[in-house]
Formats: sequence, structure tokens, C-alpha cells
Amino acid sequence: MSHFSIQLTPQLHQYLQSVSVRDQEVLNALQEETAQEEFARMQISPEQGQLMALLIKILGAERTIEIGVFTGYSALCVALALPDHGQIIACDIDERWTNIARRYWKQAGVAHKISLHLAPALQTLDQLLIEGQQDRFDFAFIDADKENYQNYYERCLTLIRPGGLIAADNVLWGGSVVDSTKQDADTRAIRSFNQQLRDDERVDLSMIPIGDGLTLARKR
Ligand code: SAM
Ligand code: CA
Repeated sequence: MSHFSIQLTPQLHQYLQSVSVRDQEVLNALQEETAQEEFARMQISPEQGQLMALLIKILGAERTIEIGVFTGYSALCVALALPDHGQIIACDIDERWTNIARRYWKQAGVAHKISLHLAPALQTLDQLLIEGQQDRFDFAFIDADKENYQNYYERCLTLIRPGGLIAADNVLWGGSVVDSTKQDADTRAIRSFNQQLRDDERVDLSMIPIGDGLTLARKR
């Protein structure tokens, strides 16, 4: 019995990718273009994108929410896995990055599935709640400003149906969560978010050490 997750050396990580990540030209191209950006590290890894696509298919998801689009990679992974009539409400505040996203969504033939809302995500989520969209979504991916994770989570929990899934990214925050010298607002927010979810009886829970840590919470 193993009590630990295996430590991925660069060589082992490369192996994992080589035997599991399926090449998709448009995703590779977006990854390459994003690599030129100063904040390229914000993009999720291909294996995480593929996991999210798998979850979308397992859930039979049709309507999803994405909080934090950047250049559109995670939304593209989800959009490619959704049926043709599927829909993503995508939230971001940055026009330049999301213009790159729009270009690739179009190139991939999934632009019709994605409604981009260029506004603070809390505003967009509150509008969905005002419109009465409670229990109307199957999946939500939280990957924007860390200080709002708890706020995003609470709204998403209302917006998704029982049995639906919330995925929250960066929950290990580069290891800062266990470094007591790190007391910045983002790190504290992630720690508090993780702690609250552990005891949240409204969801089934798993924290997966993929990428920078991904928490999956299934609404009961
Ligand atoms: N999911 C993306 C991917 O895999 O490529 C990465 C998202 S990146 C880590 C975070 C994004 O959140 C940035 O594009 C940023 O503009 C956006 N963001 C930051 N604060 C926001 C807010 N209040 N509302 C909506 N988006 C926000
Ligand atoms: Ca992230």
C-alpha cells in the first residue's frame, strides 16, 4: 500500500505526457502561442486539460462555467469535449488575452459553444443567479483571482445541479500552502478555501495532485 503520491521528476513527467496525452493540433498551437506570453505558466497542463475533457464526458455535461479564461486553453479542452449544442459561460476581464482565446475557439470550430463575458466574474455569476439559473449547470472550473475562490465556489455550488462538479485549480499554490513564511493574501485565501471544503458536507471531495493541485467537488 502506498500512502504517498509519487513525486514526478521531469523525466517521469515527460514519460507520463508521452504515454497519455493525445495530440490535438489546435491545442498544441494554442500552447505554443501562449508560451510567448509573459504569464504563460497560468495555462493548465495538457494532461490536466485531458482530465477535464474526460470529466465532461463522464458527466455528460452540456452547460458549464469557466472562471478565468486567459488565452482560452482550458475552455478549449472543455468545449471540444462538449456536444455540439453544449455551452460554456466563460468569464474574464482581459480583452487582449481573450482575443487570442477567441481566435483559437474559432479555428477549432467551437466558438458557437462559448459565451465570453468580459466583466468581473462575480458580476457574471450574480447575473446568472438573478436570471434563475440555479441547478442549470453541470460543471464549473474556477481558475481566476484566488481571493475570490470562496465567493466563486458558493455561487457555482448554487448554479450547478446535484451531481454536478466544481473543479478548482492551483489548490497547492506552488507548495506555498505549507510554507508558513508565505502569508500573502492569495496564499491565505487558498489555505482557507481548502480548509473550508474539507468540512463542507454539501459536496463529495477529492484533491488531485495534478499540475498545481486540482480540487474536485461534486454537489450532493
Ligand atoms: N484557465 C486558464 C488556462 O488554462 O489557460 C488560465 C486562467 S489564468 C490563471 C487567470 C485568469 O483570470 C486571467 O486571464 C485573468 O484575467 C482572469 N481574472 C482575474 N481576475 C478576474 C476577475 N475578477 N473576474 C474574471 N476574471 C478574472
Ligand atoms: Ca490555474
